[in-house]
Amino acid sequence: MSDYDEDNIFAKILRGEAPCVKIYEDADTLAFMDVMPQAEGHVLVIPKAEACDMMDLNGAMAQKLIVNVQKIARAVKSALGCPGVMLAQLNGSAAGQTVFHTHFHIIPRHDGVDLGFHAKEMEAPEALEKIAEKIRPLISETTA
Ligand code: AMP
Repeated sequence: MSDYDEDNIFAKILRGEAPCVKIYEDADTLAFMDVMPQAEGHVLVIPKAEACDMMDLNGAMAQKLIVNVQKIARAVKSALGCPGVMLAQLNGSAAGQTVFHTHFHIIPRHDGVDLGFHAKEMEAPEALEKIAEKIRPLISETTA
């Protein structure tokens, strides 16, 4: 895309220039732990294609992305044992988007527990890795 910033943090993660706690990767998609989680188990799912927001993806890319979001959300729900899972997807700064490479948030939710602040407190990679270890083995290869 013409207005895509190749130096955004997710582009750097995709190029291996910035670290992430990875939980899933295939030809089109990468998923990793949100470094400033709004709840324990907060995961981000991004396409590998350069796309500022969802409007920049073609239909085939959007389909691949949402299928992987569903697959990973199932694993997050099982791994965290949470009764609810919030999927959030922000498009444009007016909508609250802060990283301009399109992504889905997968956020575990528990009854009576408020959502943490957005992109506020950094979590240690070691703590994120412990949660990732629970999620990774539960990601199914099948999408049914
Ligand atoms: P949004 O505001 O919807 O664009 O969400 C961006 C998300 O990216 C926020 O939840 C941030 O906590 C998260 N984030 C920013 N930098 C990183 C990073 N280096 N690794 C993992 N997550 C990040």
